[in-house]
Amino acid sequence: MTAPRLEIDLDKIEHNARSLVERLARSGIGVTGVTKATLGEAKIASALLRAGVSGLGDSHIDNLEAMRLARIASTMTLIRTPMLSQADRVVKHADVSFNSELEIIAALSSAAQKAEKTHGVVLMVELGDLREGIMPGDVLDAVAATRCFPKIIFKGIGTNLGCLRGISPDEKNMAALSDLADLIDTKFGPVTDIVSGGNSANINWALSGAKTGRINNLRLGESILFGCETLHRQPIAGLHGDAITLIAEVIEAKTKPSLPWGEVAQNAFGETSPSTDRGPISQAILAIGRQDTDPSGLTPPPGIEIIGSGSDHLILNTGRVHISVGDEISFRVNYSALLRAATSPFVARVFTAPA
Ligand SMILES: *Cc1c(COP(=O)(O)O)cnc(C)c1O
Repeated sequence: MTAPRLEIDLDKIEHNARSLVERLARSGIGVTGVTKATLGEAKIASALLRAGVSGLGDSHIDNLEAMRLARIASTMTLIRTPMLSQADRVVKHADVSFNSELEIIAALSSAAQKAEKTHGVVLMVELGDLREGIMPGDVLDAVAATRCFPKIIFKGIGTNLGCLRGISPDEKNMAALSDLADLIDTKFGPVTDIVSGGNSANINWALSGAKTGRINNLRLGESILFGCETLHRQPIAGLHGDAITLIAEVIEAKTKPSLPWGEVAQNAFGETSPSTDRGPISQAILAIGRQDTDPSGLTPPPGIEIIGSGSDHLILNTGRVHISVGDEISFRVNYSALLRAATSPFVARVFTAPA
């Protein structure tokens, strides 16, 4: 079979998504399935929709366009603030976008008028992780301004924690978002439809039995694909952690010394590697590299160790495991390794779902 390849078990992904959708529904929270890690892969999008997600979200308009082209029928949300230069595409292909700049909402409004369409806007609120968002004190003014733009519909508010500074979603910051929703509705009437509390970093909070208040949406990618929460990368009970594996092929297998010889300088990536002499080792080279994945995010099979990588080689110490040229080695991937593998044109995708 073609290598390298991502093997993706759609049944496991569907199971993970359904389990989260059902558990979160008990707290009144709907799930937006996030498709960006696999470039808006239509088969994954379909699995998420079968599992009952209320819509799909992606950070790239290109991925939303790809899903539209694949005739995926769903509400589509652009979950990164649109680029000014892409306003026309955003209005055409996304039903809703997340925003934090009035200048961009103005451009979306112009594009929407041209296209004779309406476009939904969720305003992102900064609650401490210091990535995107309007400062809480500026939200009421931003809602008032948003509501004035022709063809723009104010849909609600959202926040994003955990991603940049690792700030945990908790009762306090979630209550702050909830209170903001109440404040907006007190001032403008019942206009806040969506209150989107965050991403897979919100799982522990959401499943803890804490009061979820006005929060009625989470955007989930990693927790569905990997079956774990993302604050401590702990498995979520009842979910599959092995829905996705990366497989690469051995192109050299030899016994070699563990110590390099000659004068040591920087390698291709500007790194110097301290090495210890462990005597001769069984070394294998796989035809996959940093262009195709993040080697630091790969977990090799037991007894095998990754000793280095270049742009197109991954070097293993295969220990006592007998490896030959042409063999395939299978790795568990983390989010970073998946992201790069799903983006590399050199990595195939194979879907394994028992019929
Ligand atoms: C990527 C992203 C998500 C999904 O994050 P996961 O950790 O994969 O669940 C949600 N919201 C925004 C704004 C994102 O950029």
